[in-house]
Amino acid sequence: MRIVIIGGGIIGAALADRLAGGTVGEGAAEVTLVDRDRPGAGASGASFAWLNANDPSDPAYHSLRVAALGAWRRLAGEFGDPGWFRVTGNTAWADTEPVKTLLSERVARLSALGYRAELITAGRLREIEPSLRPAAGAVTAHYSGEGWVHGPDAVAALAGRARDAGARVITGVPATRLNLRGERVTGVRLGTGDDLDADLTICAAGRHSAALLATAGVGLPLVDAEAPGSAAPGLTATTGPAPGLLNGVVHSPALDMRPTPEGGLVLEAADLDEATDLGTPPADLHARAAELLDRARALLPGLTARIERFRRCVRPLPADGRPLVGPHRPGLYTAVTHSGITLGPHLADLIAADLRDEEAALAPYRPDRPIRAEMPSAHAGPLFGYAGTEGRDGAARS
Ligand SMILES: Cc1cc2nc3c(=O)[nH]c(=O)nc-3n(C[C@H](O)[C@H](O)[C@H](O)COP(=O)(O)OP(=O)(O)OC[C@H]3O[C@@H](n4cnc5c(N)ncnc54)[C@H](O)[C@@H]3O)c2cc1C
Repeated sequence: MRIVIIGGGIIGAALADRLAGGTVGEGAAEVTLVDRDRPGAGASGASFAWLNANDPSDPAYHSLRVAALGAWRRLAGEFGDPGWFRVTGNTAWADTEPVKTLLSERVARLSALGYRAELITAGRLREIEPSLRPAAGAVTAHYSGEGWVHGPDAVAALAGRARDAGARVITGVPATRLNLRGERVTGVRLGTGDDLDADLTICAAGRHSAALLATAGVGLPLVDAEAPGSAAPGLTATTGPAPGLLNGVVHSPALDMRPTPEGGLVLEAADLDEATDLGTPPADLHARAAELLDRARALLPGLTARIERFRRCVRPLPADGRPLVGPHRPGLYTAVTHSGITLGPHLADLIAADLRDEEAALAPYRPDRPIRAEMPSAHAGPLFGYAGTEGRDGAARS
């Protein structure tokens, strides 16, 4: 079966890796991965990339994310403990009364779901993150099963393994439209003018998926990234090496941080992220990156490293915050999601199963489901959960 995957982000790369060298239906899967830039050039390459199932509000979705954490552990094991995947734990604290209460309730709800979540003392926090200077009197939670993936490296590893297993990887060429014969999608037209024929075309083009699907008259309910104030664009900054300063993921009221494989820090803050849209001038992006560094230095007094790079990047953000995964019409399948770093490899496993026989775990996430019109946030409400469903009230955090 000839399978063309459009988009080499974490979703497309994980899918190519999962399908290449295997069989789908009766025949061997002949996989082609197409990216208009290079694998990892989209959201996956600049993501905060915290692996978590930290939102208890929807137990079924929480379970999907817990399974996704397991899928990452298995996948990383196959790559032999790669530096781009770490289960470091995540430490989060709250320093105002209403948010302290919310954090305590969240820990209780997550614990009741069997998730590793606990409130910890200031002494325990000093053991976990000795270089941190948190606010006095904070309530602190620790989630020992969470961690991070470094998106660019993970995507490169997955696309590389797919190539080794026989996938063809085409870079620097866009798919400009889906080709149709009647109702059936028969492949894509490339920017070169060539047609790439396929028995199955999988759209994993992230935020650009809606535009590509529209060429075949298919709608996809994504938040409009171009709209002023859109929740889809975000901002991350990466520092130079700051060895030994941070052990795991940290969510504080002012700043989120995680280490990189090179010993630097990725920085993100919900208020600065939410203030960023596609109209934000470069000078403001620069100022926000500097602000992220100031906040990091306030939390980590030993931090002398500077910002090496910052990026405004755009999330594919489904209108209800949940994955959009499934067939649309003959020959066409879509795989677009928020929280794609956490979900990528597990969705790839589920999609591989779905191509053989309808996969029940994907039933709630079909792209043609009725979608409530409420606007998701990129961040999960007032507390520390990268799920995008609880609205934008309070001191939202990713
Ligand atoms: C600031 C920020 C922080 C985030 N934090 C987290 C987090 O902590 N945890 C988490 O799990 N998730 C997080 N996310 C979300 C996560 O990064 C995304 O859900 C995920 O990266 C999406 O992956 P993707 O493969 O769908 O899209 P992308 O990574 O955007 O990849 C899409 C690819 O398609 C290519 N493409 C597009 N159009 C075409 C075309 N027509 N032809 C060919 N190629 C095309 C692009 O070049 C790109 O490489 C964050 C996102 C942002 C922006």
